Amino acid sequence: MTAAAVCRRLVDRTAVVTGAASGIGLASARRLASEGAHVVCADIDAERGEAAAKECGGLFVRTDVTDAGQVEALFAAAHRTYGSVDVAFNNAGISPPDDDSILTTEPDAWRRVQEVNLTSVYLCCKYAIPHMRRQGRGSVINTASFVARMGAATSQISYTASKGGVLAMSRELGVQFARDGIRVNALCPGPVNTPLLAELFAQDPERAQRRLVHVPAGRFAEPEEIAAAVAFLASDDASFVNAAEFLVDGGIAGAYVTPL
Ligand code: NAD
Repeated sequence: MTAAAVCRRLVDRTAVVTGAASGIGLASARRLASEGAHVVCADIDAERGEAAAKECGGLFVRTDVTDAGQVEALFAAAHRTYGSVDVAFNNAGISPPDDDSILTTEPDAWRRVQEVNLTSVYLCCKYAIPHMRRQGRGSVINTASFVARMGAATSQISYTASKGGVLAMSRELGVQFARDGIRVNALCPGPVNTPLLAELFAQDPERAQRRLVHVPAGRFAEPEEIAAAVAFLASDDASFVNAAEFLVDGGIAGAYVTPL
């Protein structure tokens, strides 16, 4: 029996998940629902977002996380439907190919990534935290990345900068609102085995190997392994975990020489 099948740490809590239609967000929506939460799935992709919400027995709210009005409406809908906003997993993000080396990345590509990856987290925190302050409790989990901690020669410059921003913002909010019963943590996943990554590396094994050599575990994470960390941070088991850089990276950030 898996941990997800036995843990019921979130019964009657309301969890909003952005980017819930795919990857880490989808795996997390499933996990949070399995632990008893009412899950509100938000995504720009209506078809897959609806399907995710249906599977989780929750609510879908089509949301472009770069739009302040839509983000405010998302958290209002969660509160209106279920009576509270206990968990905000602010996870939607992009890594488009035109965000690359600083030498070739143009301002429009830079700005788009900042909007979707960083401004969105600002908006989600801005509109989730007032609900949590009224309740006197809440857990905010913002998806950063291990690249907020480590430099890569295979640069995606705006992506990396956006994740550094998520990390610093989460730390500051965790400190500011700690005495309101609100915890704010930055989740820093290592590379995750998503369909996009698998396809990219199937086409270019050298590229995959160049990365895998740095992972002590010798493999990328599965989305469910990231979702397990999300469920922990969302729950009262993490009651003293706040303003943290929560690495789930298979040891990458701690490694110098890895096993062959
Ligand atoms: P994914 O592409 O599988 O899912 C991202 C979801 O976000 C999609 O459903 C997409 O429709 C949605 N989305 C994109 N733009 C949006 C917008 N403007 N408004 C609302 N929704 C929008 O990606 P993933 O791999 O699951 O990544 C999720 C998060 O984890 C991202 O923030 C990503 O940067 C981060 N991350 C991923 C990895 C990895 O290796 N996959 C590693 C570290 C961090």
